[in-house]
Amino acid sequence: MKYHIDTIPVWDAYHQGGECPLCNLENRIEISYVESFLGGSVMEPDTRIEVNKTGFCPHHFQLLYDAQNRLGLALMTHTHLKEFMEKFQQRCNGVLKASKAMGAFALSNLIKGKKDMQQLTVQFEEWLNAQHHQCIICNRMSNTMNRYAYTILYLWDTDKEFKKIFESSKGFCLKHLALTIKIARETLPSNKQALWLSDVIPLQIRSFHNLEQELSQFINKFDYRNQDKPLGSAKDSLARTIQKLTGRFMD
Ligand SMILES: [Zn+2]
Ligand SMILES: [Zn+2]
Repeated sequence: MKYHIDTIPVWDAYHQGGECPLCNLENRIEISYVESFLGGSVMEPDTRIEVNKTGFCPHHFQLLYDAQNRLGLALMTHTHLKEFMEKFQQRCNGVLKASKAMGAFALSNLIKGKKDMQQLTVQFEEWLNAQHHQCIICNRMSNTMNRYAYTILYLWDTDKEFKKIFESSKGFCLKHLALTIKIARETLPSNKQALWLSDVIPLQIRSFHNLEQELSQFINKFDYRNQDKPLGSAKDSLARTIQKLTGRFMD
């Protein structure tokens, strides 16, 4: 798998600092994708076709809903619903036909009938679950995040200045650490994959250790005897620890 390189946003994300540069980038592209879906790009035929087919996951529906362009969202949701209903109808025709046939069959062979019914319902259930997890914004974000993770690996491998800023960073959140390891596995020879791990793991350990200390300081502040002690950087350590563990910024 070959990804394009996109260095400027990656440099910006490292200069921004924080617990995870990929979280910084993900947050930025998520805001811009949500805006673009409620702006002009939704009218582009290709995007419209994809929205109709895929729809949005619960998280991105919520962000779109919160953006307050109810007409834009209603139009998209309406056409998506119509397309979904066609697929649903076809699926249900098949399910109803098969379950009717099975009912008759089950009378003559109870064990086989029960097994087939089980299989049919599992398939239907899986199809339904797959429908509501599909999301065009998640798909696009995932492609872009792969590209950014690849760019980080590329800069780490080729740019001395970047390597310095990388080494003074706090590593990544767990989700994005896993992403960099996946992209390294897909794109780097095994000796460089090993080098990547030996560079990134100490950063992670140091970062978890610092967070643990800050969180402990934050907790101690609730003791009235420590009320006057300054919190400093530990002030937002709970939010940063949650981000480190989940890849999600706390508002
Ligand atoms: Zn992250
Ligand atoms: Zn989504």
